[in-house]
Amino acid sequence: MPRGGAQTTVNALAGYFASLGGIVYTSSPITSLEGFSPHTVLVCDLSPRQLLEIAGNRLEPEFQRELGRFRYGPGAFKVDYALSAPIPWKAADCARAGTVHLGGTLEEIAASESEVWQGKHPERPFVLLTQPTLFDPSRAPAGKHIAWAYCHVPNGSTFEMTERIEAQIERFAPGFRDCILARHVSSPALLQTMDANLVGGDINGGAISLRQVAFRPTSRLYTTPDPSLFLCSASTPPLGGVHGMCGYHAARTVLQKIRFRP
Ligand SMILES: Cc1cc2nc3c(=O)[nH]c(=O)nc-3n(C[C@H](O)[C@H](O)[C@H](O)COP(=O)(O)OP(=O)(O)OC[C@H]3O[C@@H](n4cnc5c(N)ncnc54)[C@H](O)[C@@H]3O)c2cc1C
Repeated sequence: MPRGGAQTTVNALAGYFASLGGIVYTSSPITSLEGFSPHTVLVCDLSPRQLLEIAGNRLEPEFQRELGRFRYGPGAFKVDYALSAPIPWKAADCARAGTVHLGGTLEEIAASESEVWQGKHPERPFVLLTQPTLFDPSRAPAGKHIAWAYCHVPNGSTFEMTERIEAQIERFAPGFRDCILARHVSSPALLQTMDANLVGGDINGGAISLRQVAFRPTSRLYTTPDPSLFLCSASTPPLGGVHGMCGYHAARTVLQKIRFRP
């Protein structure tokens, strides 16, 4: 866990990029690729739906149809907490973990995730919870703590899951509710407002089906029929996650393609 929060990782990456002469523009949404020269290499950290919106007119109809068939996965419903004390876990080991997965038995977890795929909201959701202040006290006032938790919900869901998430935490940490000083709820729609890549609250850049693992988002992977236009997001292999490998492979593809461009 980076001291001070995940933003410090972003700052380090952006600082390195700047040291190489790169420029980062923030709060500058791109709504269209018109205005960019067709010879400018564009590497888009976008999911297929956004690529269609922004670059549709540069893409062949068949490729547009392929992108349109791309499926998104479940959304995430997230709650951030300010806490008066560490979470009072029943299991002592949980008080030493950065991330705790709350689901009871394997059968219970499987049933809960399966319900989400059927468009339902599980009574006992599989909750992923992090408690960073156990390891980085700089993130909260002295003696206080923070945590955040999320569970899966059907893509684009508007159902309020806070109560069910808290009941699940309380089940494994009786007294958790008494520690809550404040909470901030992020529905799938709010997550998408904060980051347009989280379509319907999907934090993985698209459903992880057998087909979409191998051909993500299409069999062209990082390339498009437009030789100047590339994709590098979690909607490309090797799927979502903060590993950076989608961008790494996209960058290598770009270098290979532009080196041999006639
Ligand atoms: C709550 C949460 C918890 C997670 N937990 C984990 C975890 O524990 N482990 C893990 O490995 N992964 C986790 N992930 C997933 C991981 O963060 C993503 O898979 C990864 O960040 C995807 O990277 P990306 O580059 O594809 O897109 P993003 O990181 O979403 O970056 C896309 C960027 O493009 C910007 N953008 C989008 N559209 C436009 C536009 N039109 N114009 C300009 N800018 C635009 C967005 O604002 C954003 O900054 C989590 C995600 C969330 C939201």
